[in-house]
Amino acid sequence: MKVLCVAAARPNFMKVKPVLDALEARGIGVHLVHTGQHYDPLLSDVFFEELGLRAPDLHLGVGSGTHAQQTAGVMVALEPVVAELAPEMMVVVGDVNSTMAAALVSAKARVRLAHVEAGLRSGDRSMPEEINRIVTDRLSDVLFAPSPDAVDNLRAEGHPPAQIHLVGNVMIDTLLGNLDRALDRPVLDRLRLDRGGYALVTLHRPANVDDPDVLRGLLAALASVSRQLPVVFPVHPRARSVVDALGVGPGIRVLDPLGYLDFVALEAGAAVVLTDSGGVQEETTVLGVPCLTLRDSTERPITVEEGTNRVIGRGPQVIVAEVDRVLRHGVPARCPALWDGHAAERIAEVVLTELTGER
Ligand code: UDP
Repeated sequence: MKVLCVAAARPNFMKVKPVLDALEARGIGVHLVHTGQHYDPLLSDVFFEELGLRAPDLHLGVGSGTHAQQTAGVMVALEPVVAELAPEMMVVVGDVNSTMAAALVSAKARVRLAHVEAGLRSGDRSMPEEINRIVTDRLSDVLFAPSPDAVDNLRAEGHPPAQIHLVGNVMIDTLLGNLDRALDRPVLDRLRLDRGGYALVTLHRPANVDDPDVLRGLLAALASVSRQLPVVFPVHPRARSVVDALGVGPGIRVLDPLGYLDFVALEAGAAVVLTDSGGVQEETTVLGVPCLTLRDSTERPITVEEGTNRVIGRGPQVIVAEVDRVLRHGVPARCPALWDGHAAERIAEVVLTELTGER
């Protein structure tokens, strides 16, 4: 049994690792392909090292480019690999351009396609990830949903119920599997931060970092927040030059992107997290740390309904007021069902059944 598993970008590596381990533990041979969508060591190599993800069997070296260039680059490079390897299934994770490109190659080669993190919808097609989600799910034969809302979305779009499997969240498998190691990291001491005494920020969505006027407003809000408590901001390479050009207030600690363990340690110790990341909305929900999402929508509504998340847009005054509210009142939270560290095992069981035909 041979499965081709595709990884491409920072939020993919923590999703692929538990899936790969669970498949291999069941005797399923996995061929791991890294498309090279993220190639900066701080967005790629560090996760292989820290998570113990084995080196990819193949690196496509696609690199950055426009959406069309990246999507086409992955398709052109992956098509002959699939033809030669003839896997029985392709497994893709998340919602990046490589996810969709690999899905197209798989579907056209008539290789069964499984999507991990299926069914998430923000309802906002101006987000490139939303397009990637819709196309990937449409083409998939096996849909692994992290939450009941994702199942509902897939059913509403007409996917046959037999294709949909509610398995939980693989991002949380990796979080729970590495939490003790993360909490042992001396990163708070190194940055001279008090537990529960700082705000943590990540921003990388085009809607927040590509337009200097929007980013200027967000940085002004963070400067106001930093008058109440230190603000730690590991800056995504996508945003670095514009953040440097605009400049930040003195209370904002601008850092390079962090490795996973240091970042999780900072998430766990934060008073509040301000983000536009999908994965960070999920991790803060499980850690019970208040999260303010600086977007107009989320594809992860369960983090709002059950978790610690609140979607507040990008208005500077609202951001400052919401931080104030959270610091005063905290937020109640519940951990969503099946976000229990065992999602990848459930995925591997389904894959095994699909491949062996035993039901
Ligand atoms: N993350 C990290 N270092 C950082 C910022 C984030 O390791 O400096 C991790 C974070 O813990 C989460 C993942 O990166 O596991 C989220 O990735 P990202 O925000 O890039 O993508 P998204 O989840 O929005 O697709």
